[in-house]
Amino acid sequence: MTNSTTATVLGWPRQGPKRELKRAIEAYWAGRVPADELHDIAAGLRADAWKQLSDNGIDEIPTGDFSYYDHVLDTAWMVGAVPQRFRAAADNDLDVYFAMARGNDKVAPLEMTKWFDTNYHYLVPELAPATTFTANAARQVELFTQATDAGHTARPVLVGPLTFLLLSKPAVDAPAGFDPLSLLDPLLDVYVDILSTLHDAGAQWVQIDEPALVLDQPVAVLDAARHALDRLGSATKRPKLLIASYFAALQDAFEVFAEAPVDGLAIDCTVPANVTEILEHGLREKRLIAGVIDGRNVWAADLDDRLAIVRRLAGRVDDLVVGSSCSLLHVPLDASKETAIDEEVRSWLAFAREKVLEIRTLATALDDETAATPALDASRRAVASRQASARTHDDAVRARVAAVRDADTHRVAAFDQRYPQQQESLGLPLLPTTTIGSFPQTDSVRKARASLRRGEIDRATYESAMRDEIATVISLQEELGLDVLVHGEPERNDMVQYFAEQLDGYLSTTHGWVQSYGTRCVRPPIIFGDVSRPEPMTVRWWQYAQSLTKRPVKGMLTGPVTMLAWSFVRDDQPIGDTARQVALALRDEVRDLEAAGCRVIQVDEPALRETLPLRTTDRPAYLEWATESFRLATSSVADVTQVHTHMCYADFGDIFTAIDDLDADVISLEAARSGMSLADELQKSGYAKGVGPGVYDIHSPRVPSTDEVRTLLEKAVGALAAGQVWVNPDCGLKTRRPDEVRPALANLVSAAAAVRASI
Ligand code: GLN
Ligand code: ZN
Repeated sequence: MTNSTTATVLGWPRQGPKRELKRAIEAYWAGRVPADELHDIAAGLRADAWKQLSDNGIDEIPTGDFSYYDHVLDTAWMVGAVPQRFRAAADNDLDVYFAMARGNDKVAPLEMTKWFDTNYHYLVPELAPATTFTANAARQVELFTQATDAGHTARPVLVGPLTFLLLSKPAVDAPAGFDPLSLLDPLLDVYVDILSTLHDAGAQWVQIDEPALVLDQPVAVLDAARHALDRLGSATKRPKLLIASYFAALQDAFEVFAEAPVDGLAIDCTVPANVTEILEHGLREKRLIAGVIDGRNVWAADLDDRLAIVRRLAGRVDDLVVGSSCSLLHVPLDASKETAIDEEVRSWLAFAREKVLEIRTLATALDDETAATPALDASRRAVASRQASARTHDDAVRARVAAVRDADTHRVAAFDQRYPQQQESLGLPLLPTTTIGSFPQTDSVRKARASLRRGEIDRATYESAMRDEIATVISLQEELGLDVLVHGEPERNDMVQYFAEQLDGYLSTTHGWVQSYGTRCVRPPIIFGDVSRPEPMTVRWWQYAQSLTKRPVKGMLTGPVTMLAWSFVRDDQPIGDTARQVALALRDEVRDLEAAGCRVIQVDEPALRETLPLRTTDRPAYLEWATESFRLATSSVADVTQVHTHMCYADFGDIFTAIDDLDADVISLEAARSGMSLADELQKSGYAKGVGPGVYDIHSPRVPSTDEVRTLLEKAVGALAAGQVWVNPDCGLKTRRPDEVRPALANLVSAAAAVRASI
C-alpha cells in the first residue's frame, strides 16, 4: 500500500498555546525583553508548532505566515513599501516595523481594517507613484530555513501581489485618482526576485495567497491577475507556485487560476460552488490543495461527508492534497484544553489542532479507509451525538421560531406616525443630544471586575461598585445637560460576551483565543445550541439608572446580527434560524425593559455592514435575515417606545436600504472622521428616519471644540431635515478617558444648543 496522499494547512495561529508571543512582544514594547530574546521566544514557538503539525501528520508545513503583528504589514516590509515617515520615527528595523503597526510618539500608525469578512485586522499599506519596491526576502528565508533545518518539508507563504495592491490605499500625498494597481509591474519584478531567492534557499513550493480574487472584481483586475500569474509563472528560477484563495466562490477567477502557468491551486472546498467548478472542469497537471476542512468555524467536521467530496475531487485531479479551507489563524488552537466544557460538547468542537487531525484522517482514508477507521468512527459518534443531543435542540425555542408571523417583525404604526408621538412623550427638543452607551471604563471599574474574577470580592460588592459608577455617569450627564441618558455599561466586559454569558445555547471557552489584531486576541463565544434567555439580562441595571433621573435613560442591547458576527455560529442549521432564535431572546429583553418603563431602547448592530457577504450575489439573502431578525427583536414595542440602533466602522454606502429596512426610529452612525459627508449620502439615499451622524470622533483623544462640532452639525442639518437629526458621538466612550469625555460632551451639548437656536 502506498501512503501517497499528503496533508497540509494554509497557515497557523501565531500566538502560542498560552499567548506567549503576545506577552513577549508586549514585554519588548515595554522595554522588559530585548529584541534577541523576543526572536528566540518566537523561534521556539514556531519550532513547537511545526513539530506538533508534523507529529500529527502534516506533510508540508507553511512558513512565512508567522508574524509579529500582521501578514499584510510583513508583505509591505518584504517589498520595501515602508513610507519614509516611519523610517524617520525609529532607529532600527524592528521598531520601524512596530511604528507602522501601532505608531509611536513621533508617528501615527498605518490604518487598520478587517481582513475580508473575518474578525482579523490587517494594516493597510500606503502606496504612491513614487513608491519604489525593493525585495527583502530575509525573513521568509529565515523562517523557511529554520523549518527545513528542523527536518520539515516547508512551504513559504506570501500574500500575493494582486491582493497586496488591492488591499493597499493611496498615500495622502498621492495624486487624485492614483490606483495602487498601476504599480503591478514593478511589484512583480520584486516578487520574481523573491521567488528566485526562495528557490536558492531550497524551497520546492511557494504559496501565494490571492484571496482578493474572490471578491467581485472588474474585468481589468482579472486581466491584471492573468498578467501577474503569467509573469510569475514564466520566471526562470522559481519554486513551484501554489496560488491560494479562500472565503468565497472563485467564479471568474477559477478560469484565471486554472489556466495560469502555475503548478498548483489551493481552493476553498467548503464553498460548494468551488467544488462544482473543479468537478466540472477538472484540474489536470496541477496540484490541488482541496480545502475541505473549514478554517473559519470551530466544529468537528462530518468526515464521511468531507471524504465523499475528497473522493470525487480525486477523480478529477492528478495531484490532490487535503488541506484547510484557509489559514487556521481564525480559530483557537486546541479544543482538548477546554476541560471546563463537558466531554460531550467538547467532542463536537475542532479547533486548529483537531482540524489537523481531521485533515490527516481524510488524507489517510483516501489511500486506505481501514487505516482511518478509528478516527472516522470517532467522527461519526460526535456527529451523531451532536445531531441527537437535547442540548442542541430545544423544542420550545423551535416551536417559537416556527410560530413567528410576519406581523411579529413589523411595528404597528409607520415611522411617520410613531416618531412625533415619541418625541413629544419624551419631551425632547429639536436636535436631541445623547451618547452611544458606554462611558469610560475607569480603573476602578476594571479593578472591580478583576477582583471579582479572582474571587477577592463577592458579587454584592462588585454590583455595588457598578451602581456607584452608574450614579456617577448619570449625574455627569445631567450636569452636562444631555437629553437622553445612558447608564454607561460599566458592568459589561464586552458587548457580545456579556449577553452570551447570560443566554442558553452559548458557551464560552477558557483558552479559545483568536488573534484580532497585533497582540490583541479575543475569545469569541460559541453558539452550540438553540438560544433562549432564561431571565432578564439588563433590566435591573436600567431600572437603577432610571431611578436616579427624570430624563429618559436608554435600555442598551446588542443586536442579533452582531451577536452572531462576533461569535462562532453553529453550522448545523441555517444561520437565519440561529439569528431568529437570538432575536427572540432579545425580544424578551426588549419587552421586559418596556414593561419596566423604559421608553427608549437601543439595539446596537455595529457588525451589520462588516458581515456583508463578499460576493454581491450572496448579499440579498444575508440582508433579508439580518434586517428581519433585527425587526423581530425590536418591533414588539408600543408606538411611543422609541427604538434606536447604532453602527460604526463602516462604509454604509451599499447598505442604506438595509438600514432603512431595520425600521429603527433613530440610528447613530460614525461620521466625524469623514467630515460629515455621510449626511449628504443619507439625504441622497432618501433616509427619512431619525439619525445621529457622529459629531465627535471618539477614536482620537482630541477634544473637539464647540465650533468644530457645530460645523459638523450644521452640515448634517443642511443636508437632512432638522427634525430628523440627533446629536451624538461616533461610538461608545469606553476607550476614552474621563478628562477627555467631559469637555468633549460639554462642547457637543453647547454646539447643539447653538445650532438649535439658529434654526
Ligand atoms: N453601546 C456600545 C458602546 O457604547 C456600542 C459599541 C459599538 O458600537 N462597538 O460601547
Ligand atoms: Zn460603535
